[in-house]
Amino acid sequence: MRQGEHGEAAFIIESGTVEIRVEKADGSEIVVGTRGPESMIGEMSLIDNAPRTASVYALENCTLLEITKDELTRRLSNADPVLRTVMQVILTRYRDTLARSDLHISGSDQAESTEHGYISQTDVVDNIRMANEFRDALSDNEIRLYYQPLINLYTGELFGFEALMRWFHPERGFVSPGVFIPIIEDNGQILQASQWAFKEACSALKRIQTHSKEKDPLHMSVNFSSEDFSAPDFVDNVYTTLSETDVQAKTIHLEITERLLMTQPEKARETLDMCRKAGMGISIDDFGTGYSSLNYLHSYPISTLKIDQSFIREMHQNPSSLELVRSIIFLGQNMNMTIIAEGVETREEAVLLKEMGCEYCQGFYFAKPMSEDDVIELVAQWEPAVI
Ligand code: C2E
Ligand code: CA
Ligand code: CA
Repeated sequence: MRQGEHGEAAFIIESGTVEIRVEKADGSEIVVGTRGPESMIGEMSLIDNAPRTASVYALENCTLLEITKDELTRRLSNADPVLRTVMQVILTRYRDTLARSDLHISGSDQAESTEHGYISQTDVVDNIRMANEFRDALSDNEIRLYYQPLINLYTGELFGFEALMRWFHPERGFVSPGVFIPIIEDNGQILQASQWAFKEACSALKRIQTHSKEKDPLHMSVNFSSEDFSAPDFVDNVYTTLSETDVQAKTIHLEITERLLMTQPEKARETLDMCRKAGMGISIDDFGTGYSSLNYLHSYPISTLKIDQSFIREMHQNPSSLELVRSIIFLGQNMNMTIIAEGVETREEAVLLKEMGCEYCQGFYFAKPMSEDDVIELVAQWEPAVI
């Protein structure tokens, strides 16, 4: 980058070293510092359109991660308003300070370490790196869906599947959705990923269905994030995918968390009403871990509650978890909702849940999430597993 040019991006140095030089009025250049791995250069361009205040030269082969102004603006517009304001004030002051200080550039700008409770710069860099890698992961077929069976505890029949994303990374190996989903939620890539997942899950259901021996059609449950519901074309995309894949709406469940209902109450209501009217099921994921207010259960078209696995795990040791599970089942029955227990790992848990009136469950005791090929094999030879 050159002094005087307008910049649209900052860069984080992944490897290599650069030298920062400033041109003086007489045309001569002075070196004002060097930067190595993990430092950021050109960050001023993220604040305004003023020209670059320095030139940067690579002293050796360097790899840089680009952070564009557009991307930062989008992230900031999604951020908490207080955070956004504080961030903008700090960045503007930083620019003003630099302008006054005759381009005195300080040495190290490492963030505080995690010991002090801050996110370390290394973590941030790794997250940005992963977000950049995710861009190609979808088109490179590194992202796949696995499907975990849902079982009817009374009949032993297969009810359907939950689609779960998997990232098979060429260098990192298996990256858990618990790691990459929050990162792509942060930078907006979740929209594309969810759209892909929904389409893939619907097409897979169509293929799996042809191998099923069950009398009722199988269901497919797909996870969505709060961010998905902010997209103005969410419902249109869902309808289009259903018609393109020729899947019946009543066999599709949208899984959402309580957080969505709390953070975007009106938007969520409108969207969920449309999906429910079209015949899709709406499941509340991780039920019991979010907000204690049950008010919202009346006012949204919720068809299913999924009891969080933490309560199922503790049910046998912890009487209050057991009571909570019992209450959720009771609540669901009274409100005419389907109840699914998540994370069932033992026969004892399944027996107890059935005794308490829980109709459906999902967990390693019955089956782990598996590839489409394995699912097809499973449905073709499935015998009712009565507990
Ligand atoms: P979740 O939606 O609550 O998914 C259930 C998680 O519990 C899955 O983890 C599943 O593998 C795991 N699980 C199922 N049965 C058992 C069991 O018996 N014992 C234990 N210990 N775990 C069990 P996974 O696949 O690692 O996914 C983690 C989370 O990532 C999901 O939690 C969901 O919040 C998110 N996620 C996964 N795929 C997607 C997706 O396509 N879109 C979105 N928005 N989020 C996704
Ligand atoms: Ca889920
Ligand atoms: Ca869950």
